[in-house]
Amino acid sequence: METAPASSWRRQNASYNLVGNKCEKCGAVYFPSRIICKNCGRESKLREHKLSGDGEVYSYTKITAPSDTFKDDAPYTIGMIKTAEGPFIEGHVVDNGKDVKIGAKVRTVLRRMYADGEEGLIHYHYKFELI
Ligand SMILES: [Zn+2]
Repeated sequence: METAPASSWRRQNASYNLVGNKCEKCGAVYFPSRIICKNCGRESKLREHKLSGDGEVYSYTKITAPSDTFKDDAPYTIGMIKTAEGPFIEGHVVDNGKDVKIGAKVRTVLRRMYADGEEGLIHYHYKFELI
């Protein structure tokens, strides 16, 4: 998967720091950020909000037949994580040799995802590590 450096740069705050937004009117938290709060519509007062990075495994699947981008990582686990603040986020699960289970606690870590070829840009992204 090749990604233009400019688009990687634009997504950096979400991809590296788990920054979404929060509606100051109703308290709803969004990740990725939304332009309008789905509860408040035109009355939305959304502000940048950094998620804690804590959550739990809501569901998961083991990938044994990956795309070319992640062929060296297989088998690996992709999880749907319910964050402490509410939003559900999909991502790679770092199991550190433990069994991935529904309800297992995770924290967000920044890890290498893939590189654009042997000498290309190395892409980093959040992953969810079992704790
Ligand atoms: Zn709202």
